[in-house]
Amino acid sequence: MEKPVTLDAPLTSLPGIGPQRAALFARLNVRTVGELLRLYPRTYEDRTRLVSVASLEAGTPACFEAAVVTTPRTNRIPKPGSRMLEVTKFTVADDTGRLNLTFFNAAHSAGALRVGERYCFYGVLTGDFAAYGMTNPLFEPCDGPARVTRRILPVYPLTAGLTNSMVLRAQAQAVSRCAGLLPETLPPELLRRYGLCGAAEACREIHCPTSAAALGRAQRRLVFEEFFLFSAALAIVRSRRTAHSCPAWQTELTPFFAALPFRLTGAQQRAVDDICADVRTGRPMSRLVQGDVGSGKTMVAAAAACLAAKNGVQTALLAPTEILARQHFDRLAPLFEGLGIRTVLLTGQMGAAQKRSAREAAELGLADVVIGTHALLTEQTRFARLGMVIADEQHRFGVAQRAALCAKGTQPHLLLLSATPIPRTLALIVYGDLDVSVVDELPPGREPVETFLVDERYRARLNAFVRKQAAEGHQSFIVCPAVEDDGGDGGETLKAAEQWAQTLQDYVFPNLRVALLHGKMKGAEKEAVMASFAAGEADILVATTVIEVGVDVPNATLMVIENADRFGLSQLHQLRGRVGRGSAKAWCVLVSDNKNTETRQRLRTLCGTNDGFRIAEADLQQRGPGDFFGSRQHGLPVFRVGDLATDLAVLRQAQEAAAQLISQDRPLPSPLAQAIESLLAGNADTLN
Ligand code: ADP
Ligand code: MG
Repeated sequence: MEKPVTLDAPLTSLPGIGPQRAALFARLNVRTVGELLRLYPRTYEDRTRLVSVASLEAGTPACFEAAVVTTPRTNRIPKPGSRMLEVTKFTVADDTGRLNLTFFNAAHSAGALRVGERYCFYGVLTGDFAAYGMTNPLFEPCDGPARVTRRILPVYPLTAGLTNSMVLRAQAQAVSRCAGLLPETLPPELLRRYGLCGAAEACREIHCPTSAAALGRAQRRLVFEEFFLFSAALAIVRSRRTAHSCPAWQTELTPFFAALPFRLTGAQQRAVDDICADVRTGRPMSRLVQGDVGSGKTMVAAAAACLAAKNGVQTALLAPTEILARQHFDRLAPLFEGLGIRTVLLTGQMGAAQKRSAREAAELGLADVVIGTHALLTEQTRFARLGMVIADEQHRFGVAQRAALCAKGTQPHLLLLSATPIPRTLALIVYGDLDVSVVDELPPGREPVETFLVDERYRARLNAFVRKQAAEGHQSFIVCPAVEDDGGDGGETLKAAEQWAQTLQDYVFPNLRVALLHGKMKGAEKEAVMASFAAGEADILVATTVIEVGVDVPNATLMVIENADRFGLSQLHQLRGRVGRGSAKAWCVLVSDNKNTETRQRLRTLCGTNDGFRIAEADLQQRGPGDFFGSRQHGLPVFRVGDLATDLAVLRQAQEAAAQLISQDRPLPSPLAQAIESLLAGNADTLN
């Protein structure tokens, strides 16, 4: 009789696993049998296809059946300073040909094979037509169980001392005892509707696949489940937030529109309409406005601030940097003044007296709109009646910072602005519980930035082009992938901002003013350089990718990106958005000597379109979400089995199913409710 083992039993309750082996598994965060079952294979080796000896191909692992035709002979070769090396050799054959096999230190196993018996082998053919052979193939009798040949073999994540066959054996034990105990988190009607297999079957097939088709079904079920639980958790968080109520607002904006020097674009208008609809409901708004750089998100935010003022509450507009906060203040204060809306600025670099008076204005309710940096978040900053929180370049702020600002009011509306267009499906995950408005249109009269892909042969003409911009009174950005030379690793040389700026200043553009900006500089130093460039005090800014998102330098007309193949498409697009913000025509030049056709094709996507959403889709498809979101903008949850790049179709189904289930507002089946609760508990940061 097998002893019953539960999912939360320690690994040592499985036969063959002692404390030492368990300690190895613990390094992979596997301590219980249930955790072992959730240690999924990294990949699989398909050993199901049997080939003939004649059709083996050098370098390709393959499975074949053959009979032993010569008696195995073992030679013992002395090895200096260690044990003897045993070399066992014999020949096998099938109807199509013969093959010499060599084994090292396997006299006991391989040396014991008997002439005339058939075995199944798995290995890699080496050599050339003069002398083919195979070294250390795996083998087992043809009439025995398929353990290492004739099957799809899971390949697990490992750690030093733990081999794949140890994990395989442990999984086989765990699966046979406990797969049936796994809770079924997916309601039966969902399994039926989406054609998914049950939890136990998925577990068996993922660890011990019986066929490629069955494995595929298991994978799909697990991916679906993972996305489904995550989406359901988000839907629940959202329904909890919207359970609060707040006063429904009046949404008359005619005076605001009349005060604008331009008409809103259709996309801006739609975003403003979305906001108006939100604040009329009497529930706190949580809305994200996504739009390309230059699409005019500031005016959408201004409309929201104006609504707040009309309804008697204050707005806090949070910007990630001093220079952005000032830029917003300089643009919005005069506009608001005409509407009787009082605006103050509050930043860290302001003098103490100025700060004090700005804080007083906020606390006493003398200011309707407070624009500022992190200084808004500090404890000394209080509001008389904060009703609208707006965060510009929202990815620069953590959930905690947003929450800190919101806590200065009672259930304020929350509006987030983002210049990182991402595909809508992903937006649902990254931004989870937010509603999303998309500003997918640029203000009229803006010529798209013309983009070229060139190689080093074009360098002289490019330099001349930079000089021409300067001669016409315009400015250029030159972006490099690295900050400083790392001494050269013998590989491809990457342009480093520090050295390149020096070279350009000394040798290439001695008569122009070259400035330098990179990520290793201090925050205040970076802002000073950026502000001076914006003020026209340099002709060329050599920089790494730190060039501030959102900063307007309307006079900059050229963006040169060195080693362009080193950047993702979305990132290149972001960089390109730093120019073309004025009325003058602007250019972007991608410099790359990379000859790879695929790479050049990828870069050419950028020459063909200025649409950030299309570029994001292409980028996601080509590089996967890991690279797609730069580390700073990374807000994606980590999935164990699901892959956002390849499983989008399943993701869509899972989201649809989750939304539908949660909207029914009925108690959830208990395994599902438990799974969601533990997900929420483990992801307080991303989800709440
Ligand atoms: P974003 O923050 O989306 O990158 P901004 O709000 O900074 O873009 O707007 C970019 C520029 O476009 C600003 O100079 C702004 O005054 C101008 N702008 C915004 N909306 C319009 C519009 N509807 N028509 C003309 N110009 C506009
Ligand atoms: Mg902006």
